[in-house]
Amino acid sequence: AEIDALLSSHISEHPDFPIPGVLFRDITPLLRDPVALRTVIRHWATLLPEGVEYLVGTEARGFVLGAPLAYEIGAGFIPVRKAGKLPGAPAGLTYDLEYGSARIEIPQDSFPAGARVLLVDDLLATGGTAAATLELTRRFDVEVLGATFLIELAALRGRDRLAGTALSTVWRIE
Ligand code: IMP
Repeated sequence: AEIDALLSSHISEHPDFPIPGVLFRDITPLLRDPVALRTVIRHWATLLPEGVEYLVGTEARGFVLGAPLAYEIGAGFIPVRKAGKLPGAPAGLTYDLEYGSARIEIPQDSFPAGARVLLVDDLLATGGTAAATLELTRRFDVEVLGATFLIELAALRGRDRLAGTALSTVWRIE
């Protein structure tokens, strides 16, 4: 309850951004408050499964939150990037969006065989981004322990879309 109050006072709401009809949640007030940021990261770490070796984070807010969370639990951090940003021959996946498509990529040599990994992002909405990231991650020889989000927009049913994946979310908004 304390964490919920901290989050609701440090995440701002913006109607009709980036498109009409969307209520955008902005985490930048949380990021700029040193005490709130540390409190939230430390609390979040207590919700994660045991034995996570790598957090797999989605560009860009999954990087900003995922890296300190990985540091806090003593795990490594693997960036899932938008297409065209990684050198070498990254593993990639193209997935459908409501309008058009997007491509994500992971460095080919990201994981040792059998690594225990957890997906991290700032927000779970429809679950499309997480589903694509999980699909790409599962192409590697890894054990996916689940996925974790700072915010879950429950009404958008991302949880249903990710059925079969263990989820933890810090702040669930109905
Ligand atoms: P989904 O694929 O519909 O679950 O949307 C989740 C992705 O979109 C995540 O990578 C989020 O960072 C981003 N996203 C969707 N809605 C919001 C929002 O209100 N605030 C911040 N990010 C959002």
